Amino acid sequence: MSAAPIPYSRQSVTEADIAAVAAVLRSDFLTTGPALDAFERDVAQLHQVRHAVALSNATAALHLGCLAMGVGAGDLVWTSPNTFLASANCARYCGADVDFVDIDPLTRNMSVQCLAQRLAQAQRAGGRLPKVVIPVDFAGLPADLREMRELADRYGFRILEDASHAVGAWLHGQPVGSRWADATVFSFHPVKIVTTAEGGVLATQDDALAERVRLLRSHGMTRDPALMSQPSHGPWYYEQVALGFNYRMTDLQAALGSSQLSRLRQLRQRRGELAARYDEQLAALPLLLPPTPADRVSALHLYAVEIDDSRCAVTRAQAVARLREAGILVQVHYIPVHLQPYYRALGFEPGQFPNSERYYARAFSLPLFPDLQDGEQDRVVQALHQALEA
Ligand SMILES: *Cc1c(COP(=O)(O)O)cnc(C)c1O
Repeated sequence: MSAAPIPYSRQSVTEADIAAVAAVLRSDFLTTGPALDAFERDVAQLHQVRHAVALSNATAALHLGCLAMGVGAGDLVWTSPNTFLASANCARYCGADVDFVDIDPLTRNMSVQCLAQRLAQAQRAGGRLPKVVIPVDFAGLPADLREMRELADRYGFRILEDASHAVGAWLHGQPVGSRWADATVFSFHPVKIVTTAEGGVLATQDDALAERVRLLRSHGMTRDPALMSQPSHGPWYYEQVALGFNYRMTDLQAALGSSQLSRLRQLRQRRGELAARYDEQLAALPLLLPPTPADRVSALHLYAVEIDDSRCAVTRAQAVARLREAGILVQVHYIPVHLQPYYRALGFEPGQFPNSERYYARAFSLPLFPDLQDGEQDRVVQALHQALEA
């Protein structure tokens, strides 16, 4: 009998979480009730933002973020190629054009230098500037939002930060989402930091933006007389004032989220312990380990390593195959989005974003989740030592 396979990520659900969800099932509200309000307050408090709007998933939050920032046909949105598809697709939903800004090979996040160069170039050439830029906090490490804010103010774009990996992360002493972005999106999918099964939040300090996202979350419908154009027909009356969606989160999901968030400190501490053990036990291998800049605190969503091909004859494909044979279900984050057939059909080509492509060629993510046991992690480390032997 071989030991059970170890996934790269897995949710951590306690009896307290289950009790919180069961309590909602016995209550009057299964959706848009008090558990939803409480979850929104919890996220707003954690990230020190005025508004946290809970949505059905982070993809919906990115979509509504773009719409609320006025993205439409003929507009341009820039994001990182080293991300999940949704960071780019959200702009396409609005009919906008997408382009990418290559990553910094050290942080694996959108490079501020590349961004500044591309903006200056576009302006010099009289080309189009982006309406919205979507930096991604890859693996939970905040992107260079402070420097991007200066560029946003200079060139007039808005920042929609994709912090799907970064619940509980900090940058320059500020919680992610509290200071430099116009809006910040978090994901609560089971592989992420804490889960609501499916769920997303758009967080913002901007009252008008939050109001717009709340409206679009539920069909563009309002019962607020101040927003109506006709006199009320009676107590049943509502008006649709924009084309919205059903992107609501249920109270079952919200209750799970609040229960999970109440343990965030312990969950983050365990991720930190596991990451520190990897740092130590993998130091001698021909791998580049995740960066740990002193001015930011990663949420440690992923522990992504790169094979240092100047010191290692084993390819990434070989290493991943050997690890999977050993029951270590490593994953690769991310196939650069511009290489996907959908984006290739829009004109993108290999070679356009070389840092992302080089990173992709060498990277894989090791198991990292709070319930990973020391003994299981030892198995990962041992398998990795074997996998990298020529
Ligand atoms: C998971 C993820 C999303 C999408 O999140 P959902 O909640 O599943 O819609 C978007 N962007 C990034 C970077 C992600 O990792």
